Amino acid sequence: MRRISIFGATGSIGQNTIDLIRRDAQAYDVAALSGGSNIALLAADAMELRADIAVTAFPDRLDDLKAALAGSGVEAAAGPAALLEAASRPADWVMSAIVGSAGLAPGLKALEQGAALALANKESLVCAGALLLETARRHNARILPVDSEHSAVFQGLVGEDMDAVERIIITASGGAFRDWPLEDLPEASLAQASSHPNWDMGQRITIDSASMFNKALEVIETREFFGVRPDQIEVLVHPESLVHALVGFRDGALMAHVGAPDMRHAIGYALNWPERKQLPVDRLDLARAGQLNFRAPDDTRYPALRLAYEVLERGGLMGAVFNAAKERALDHFIAGRCRFTDMAATVEEVMARMDAQSDLIDAAMTLDNVSQMDHLARQRADEVLMQKAG
Ligand code: NAD
Ligand code: MG
Repeated sequence: MRRISIFGATGSIGQNTIDLIRRDAQAYDVAALSGGSNIALLAADAMELRADIAVTAFPDRLDDLKAALAGSGVEAAAGPAALLEAASRPADWVMSAIVGSAGLAPGLKALEQGAALALANKESLVCAGALLLETARRHNARILPVDSEHSAVFQGLVGEDMDAVERIIITASGGAFRDWPLEDLPEASLAQASSHPNWDMGQRITIDSASMFNKALEVIETREFFGVRPDQIEVLVHPESLVHALVGFRDGALMAHVGAPDMRHAIGYALNWPERKQLPVDRLDLARAGQLNFRAPDDTRYPALRLAYEVLERGGLMGAVFNAAKERALDHFIAGRCRFTDMAATVEEVMARMDAQSDLIDAAMTLDNVSQMDHLARQRADEVLMQKAG
């Protein structure tokens, strides 16, 4: 039996992971599940999968979780420290599917005890890529990509020599506002930004798809996962979301990964790696799909992409600044306190302000320094947005 844990179990990725586990439940021994405020779902899944412990991120929900788990034999816990304790419990495979930089510390703990870390939480690689990779190396642990594009690249590299790789192309649907007139973007509503043309995902990543902040994070993620130079990473708008990524080799060959948009493919690949097992995903009928379209991303429509390359150029802790400012700007947009286009403008302004403090940006990449930078960048984002509003 494989011992596994799922952090962010109640979210979109977490539920897709549980769907796969449930189909072969006797093969898995579940150590920990974590969630947020959906206590009923967390408790139901923990009991069904006979987890040792269930953790909610929110301390004020501990009593509810205890009540929901009463008599089940599943331990209940709450808060960031409990999350770290649960992540320290030995496991062979750990799904990192918390949304945002809150996923970083539990991911590091899982690597420290040698687990294979299936990484959906791209934010942790963006904030602290070198730290995660170094922690994995030191503990002989493996980080497996779960983001569909990076899983696609990972699969395209099997048996290949990295020296032969010329470029990596990740695709983007273009999000909800792909075909909107540019002048309408400032007025885009929360409901409009929260609907994705092709993928069914959590609300935050769906809005990040409309603004391309998601693809911007993925450009940085590509660099961290595969160690290529920024100029070797390209983004291509592909409205059908059927080609997930392409790897270009020095002989001119382009290897594409094509499949239906279903996260259970990438999750299942990471779960079964290095084997390929049968998965319950739709088989793509290309004759029915008919055509695949591609176009270059428009810099004016998607300023977040340019910022991602600036982050790579600057290096140091700028990734943590970029991600935290983006998370905070997104909080404000969701709360109705800023306009859609204010998000990228805010992140750009926060990056400029923090860049002036090079002693902070160039500090060593430790968890403490990354957390401090995350905190500072959120404060700066609040200041910038307050100024915009005032
Ligand atoms: P989601 O919002 O559906 O779920 C997020 C999970 O994290 C929930 O279990 C929630 O309770 C938990 N959580 C939220 N805030 C937390 C906090 N502060 N501390 C601890 N736990 C917290 O999100 P999702 O769409 O499943 O995305 C999860 C991660 O996977 C993100 O990093 C996202 O970028 C990445 N990802 C998602 C998809 C997708 O298809 N949904 C695809 C690729 C990558
Ligand atoms: Mg993706």
